[in-house]
Amino acid sequence: MNRFHKFQTSLLVLTLVTTCEYSLAQAKANVTILATGGTIAGAAATGTQSGYTSGAVGVDAMVKAVPGIEKLANIKGEQISNVGSQDMSFDIMLKLAKRINELLSTPAVDGIVITHGTDTMEETAFFLNLTVKSDKPVVMVGSMRPSTAVSADGPLNLYNGVAVAADPNAKGRGVLVVMNDQIHGAHSLTKTSTTAIQTFMSPLRGLVGVCAYGKNDWYNNPPWKHTTQSQFDISNVTKLPRVDIVFGDVDMSPDLIDASVKAGAKGIVIAGVGNGNMNKASVDAAAKAAKSGVVIVRSSRVATGLVDRNVEVNDDELGFVASDELNTQKSRILLSLALLKGNQPAQIQELFRTY
Ligand code: ASP
Repeated sequence: MNRFHKFQTSLLVLTLVTTCEYSLAQAKANVTILATGGTIAGAAATGTQSGYTSGAVGVDAMVKAVPGIEKLANIKGEQISNVGSQDMSFDIMLKLAKRINELLSTPAVDGIVITHGTDTMEETAFFLNLTVKSDKPVVMVGSMRPSTAVSADGPLNLYNGVAVAADPNAKGRGVLVVMNDQIHGAHSLTKTSTTAIQTFMSPLRGLVGVCAYGKNDWYNNPPWKHTTQSQFDISNVTKLPRVDIVFGDVDMSPDLIDASVKAGAKGIVIAGVGNGNMNKASVDAAAKAAKSGVVIVRSSRVATGLVDRNVEVNDDELGFVASDELNTQKSRILLSLALLKGNQPAQIQELFRTY
């Protein structure tokens, strides 16, 4: 091969490599990471202590701690808040939902990842499931160990979260939570362990899929209405009506229900015993509240199973709503949004069957 041919060959190789890299860059999805805080952004003084501060690390540092993440997607980061999710509020949730809707309405963003504390992740996931107006992937990730811990779980969860958000197969499944290699749907997942990294489970409906080192395998499509099929529109909402939760137990005090009504609650979710039950005195207090226009939803403090109408409580007669498959904390989210539209128990019951 003479010098001219060698030159031509290297030029061809160079062009091929550049074109290939260019089309790979083109093919990568554009994913925006919205950081809200939580243990995934937490820091401790040493790698083995249990005490730490949630929401101490910013979004850029979190992304930098994940080798190879840039190969999965073109990533941008934004800080929405930096709180432990025990301090998550409807204000932040509304801000987050509005920002997601804004970002996903442009062709420049293909998917969203939200970093969030695990304590209330299921509430934010379900809230977004009802208020995001796009079928593009919206994925939440968190961690059980702070970023400074030995064997921190956050970096791989974030890596997998980006892989799910960049996957066109994630579209149309509603808001997803990716933790410990599992993909959960917003309706069914719940936190089950205060400390274990395998904390999220979806007891009644199972996993939506799994994700191993960025490779996704899809099992299910959540059957509930969500996102683009949802009737809830928060674009002009700045405040949600007050809804309280009252915990049911042995010899429960009915005056907690009275106090809630007096404090201005428009709805009360009972975390009842068994199939959403409560003692007679509390049923009477709840019936009085329902008569005055406060919406009573019977849910259960039990980890799994649904709460059905008219089993041991006559919901038809007393004007109560049964939570169906929603747990107490998610019932509160749905009831808060439902009350923006009206307080008729029959209509609200229909929403609990639909979402
Ligand atoms: N308290 C923390 C939070 O929810 C716990 C966690 O993220 O795992 O922000």
